Amino acid sequence: MRLLRTLLLGLLTLAQLALCAEDYYKVLGLNRDATEKQIKSAYRQLSKKYHPDKNPNDPTAHDKFVLVSEAYEALSDPESRRIYDQHGHDGLKQHKQQGGAGGGHHDPFDLFSRFFGGGGHFSNQPGQRRGPNVEVKVGIPLRDFYNGRVTEFQWNKQEICEVCAGTGAADKVVHSCPVCGGRGVRTVRQQLAPGMVTQVQMQCDACGGRGKAIKHRCSACNGERVVRKPATVTLNVQRGMADGARVAYENEADAHPDYVAGDLIVTVYEKEPALEGDEANPDRVDGVFFRRRGNDLFWREVLSLREALLGDWTRNVTHLDGHIVRLGRPRGQVVQPGHVETVVGEGMPVWHEDGDDVYHKTEYGNLYVEYTVVLPDQMESGMEKELWQLFQKWRAKKGVDLHKDSGRPDKPVIKSEQENHDEL
Ligand SMILES: [Zn+2]
Ligand SMILES: [Zn+2]
Repeated sequence: MRLLRTLLLGLLTLAQLALCAEDYYKVLGLNRDATEKQIKSAYRQLSKKYHPDKNPNDPTAHDKFVLVSEAYEALSDPESRRIYDQHGHDGLKQHKQQGGAGGGHHDPFDLFSRFFGGGGHFSNQPGQRRGPNVEVKVGIPLRDFYNGRVTEFQWNKQEICEVCAGTGAADKVVHSCPVCGGRGVRTVRQQLAPGMVTQVQMQCDACGGRGKAIKHRCSACNGERVVRKPATVTLNVQRGMADGARVAYENEADAHPDYVAGDLIVTVYEKEPALEGDEANPDRVDGVFFRRRGNDLFWREVLSLREALLGDWTRNVTHLDGHIVRLGRPRGQVVQPGHVETVVGEGMPVWHEDGDDVYHKTEYGNLYVEYTVVLPDQMESGMEKELWQLFQKWRAKKGVDLHKDSGRPDKPVIKSEQENHDEL
């Protein structure tokens, strides 16, 4: 019994050891050759996912949150990353004991606040302020709505200054304001009338009410604590996503040390197709001529008089993913001008917000083809003569008198007559 317990304890210790020495790249879900940008992006995603404020019922989330920030701190600093790559966890430990920077166990909430602002907590915490949401519009060509595409866009984002870690001070040291003593307010005596003095509290203008002061301004942000720079955001355009669909990125709006960043809200809209230049249409598909309404697509096809009248024609329409939709009529089939043909299942993929998967067969809307018939400008006189005779011959036999068929009166009805009639 005792042996078993010792064994079990031993196993448990081993498991704990394994947990402590978890590979930092694996923790962030990255390969060893990950770029600095990928490391940052992985931290942004995972730290939000495992933040204890978001997982109040999951006690393991806190450990994961700590581990993610540990991994980020180790890998984001080039020197500590190099040491970790060569000597692993032990190497890092030694490096730290020798007073080296990077890979240290800083407060994970402090690291979090350097990315998302505020005190490292989410705004559902009491006393946390939240920044405004930011709305961004991103134009997407129709073919990307049809095929689905992971794309990127940039916007000018306010970020917490990395050089001074959001302190605004060149030495990263923040002192309390000497004017107000760090309280952010000053008490001012005001004379209301001779002999009547009152004390009023005013915001300290030396520190703007923050109660903090710095000796030398950070040159990167000019003491503002934040900088604006282009931020690249990955956007997953799902197949059939609606024109005007909104995608929310939690806490990815402008960041500021004083508040938790709001959400970045992206509205995707269909970009006007460009006929010139291949950027929007690299496959040279006919797709730029499609028009979309909801799940359906619209297409205009032009027929000559001969085709509309006699049939025996085909068209190959190159769809948005390059596949061919064949249109056509056998000889003898008339197409009326303005006729709309429904091609079932050749419209847009129907968007399911939970996403398509292998078990879910994609449904499609319809393609509506409207036919336009063009008449020849001019006919050769020989051809005109023959056609005329031909029509004359068949008109006598089988011709339809459209006027007679319409049921309209021969004599036009004059309005004043009708009014008189009504009075009788
Ligand atoms: Zn700065
Ligand atoms: Zn002050």
